[in-house]
This record gives sequence, C-alpha cells and structure tokens, in this order.
Amino acid sequence: MSEVRPKKALGQHFLTDQGIAQSIVAALRNDPAQPRDVLEIGPGMGVLTQYLLKREDIDPMMIEIDSESVEYLLTHFNGMPGKLIEGDYLKLNIDRFFKGPYRIIGNFPYNISSQIFFKILDDKDKVPEVVCMIQKEVADRIAEKPGSKTYGILSVLLQAWYDIDYILSVGPGAFCPPPKVKSAVIRLTRNSRTDLGCDEKLFKTVVKTAFNQRRKTLRNALKPLVKEGMDTSDPVFDLRAERLGVEDFVALTKMFED
Ligand code: SAH
Repeated sequence: MSEVRPKKALGQHFLTDQGIAQSIVAALRNDPAQPRDVLEIGPGMGVLTQYLLKREDIDPMMIEIDSESVEYLLTHFNGMPGKLIEGDYLKLNIDRFFKGPYRIIGNFPYNISSQIFFKILDDKDKVPEVVCMIQKEVADRIAEKPGSKTYGILSVLLQAWYDIDYILSVGPGAFCPPPKVKSAVIRLTRNSRTDLGCDEKLFKTVVKTAFNQRRKTLRNALKPLVKEGMDTSDPVFDLRAERLGVEDFVALTKMFED
C-alpha cells in the first residue's frame, strides 16, 4: 500500500528523520516506577510506533483519527488490532482503554496541541509523563518562566502540575511535508503536588481571565471576577498576569474565594 497522503486539516507532517524518532521514543523514561501503559496520539505512518513496539518496558496503544493512516498501520505493522484505536483523542474517554495510569507520547497535530494539553490537564492524575513534539514557539511558551511576554495560560497551568524538560529542537527539514514553523520535543513529568491549596476550578478561571487581557493590570483584567465589596488594594493587583508564578496565582485565587 502506498504512503498516506498528508492532510493539512489533520496537522499531518510526517517525521522522516529516524534518528530524531529514536530520540523522541528514548525520552520516555525507562523506569519501573512508571506505568507500562503508553498512549501514542496520532501515530500517522508509525515512525514513532515502530520504536515504541520494540521497547520491552512499555505496552503501547495508539489513537489515530485518520482512517487512511489506520489502514496503513494495520497493513504495515503486526499486532496492531487491539492496540490501535481509530478515533479523536479530544473526544474519547481514554479511561475506557486503561485500568490505571498511562503515559502519553506523540508528534502532536500542531493545530490542536493546546486542546490536547487542556485534556491532559483534566486527566493529570492519570498521566504522570508526556513526551511530545510540538511547535517550538508553543514549547518555549510552556517552559517559560514568569516575566516574559510569551509566558501564558498553558505555562501556568502546566507548570502547576508538571516539571517541564526541553529535550531537543527539530527543523522543518525532518518532516514531509515540512511545516512552516520550527518544532521542539519536550517532556512533562508530573510533580508531587496533589492539591493547589486553593479551589482548582477558580484557579483556572483566574489564570485564564488574567491572561485574556494580559496588557492590563490584574485589577482591570480581573474586574469580571471581582465581587462587590472585595478589596483589591493589594499591590499584586497593580501587576500584569505575566509577572505571576504558580504560587502567586494560588495566593491570588484565595483572595477570590468566599
Ligand atoms: N506520528 C506521526 C504523525 C504526526 S502528524 C509522525 O511523527 O510522522 C499528527 C498525526 O495526528 C496525524 O497522523 C493525524 O492524523 C493525527 N491526528 C490529528 N488529529 C487527531 C486527533 N484529534 N486524534 C487523534 N489523532 C489525530
């Protein structure tokens, strides 16, 4: 069977550099304390899958939305039935496929990488490790510390629950067709935090609202959340969202709790 025809709408840029594919798979830790179950999001033609299947410390499963890729994987790899789910990662309830925690790996479709991270955050207590290739700009933003212009919602929310390691940068020439942007591989490792010390849902709302108008001071940006009679004289309200680290956002959220 011929190769999969790349579809832009599905973010299909197939990695062709085998060395990079091996480095990505190697970035998933070989650690008996980590779960054996691993979910690969968007295997495409299986450039990562082939190396995942060779590892004896993991049990990989794949989820792919594109029926043409699914057909390709079924004809090119043995033992795919039972390991390959045809479906949309964003819509499926992944708990159906794993009894316990599982790790995630993938060259993510760049057009939906933020949505993938929000879903991982929803499942954070089931997902102790993520290795992914994404647009370099997004990777930089996620790993960024407070004070920078690119620091944003995903930086705060992911850093609250995960330690971020920058693994490697990848140029467009490693793909077919080459994407217009640079790429990077990062690893997220769940930290030991079990509780934020404030209401989690409100924390998310405060972070999102604060960055929605990131040029404004928090006093102005958070106006929609301020209840009557609430005291916003604390000097933190003179700052912009980009200046606050995770702990600062926790403290800020507490001010909004009843
Ligand atoms: N892993 C392959 C393909 C990366 S391109 C490689 O490295 O070459 C991204 C892949 O994600 C494509 O195969 C695309 O079909 C798939 N994909 C896109 N949206 C998806 C979704 N919502 N759920 C599952 N897979 C998806």
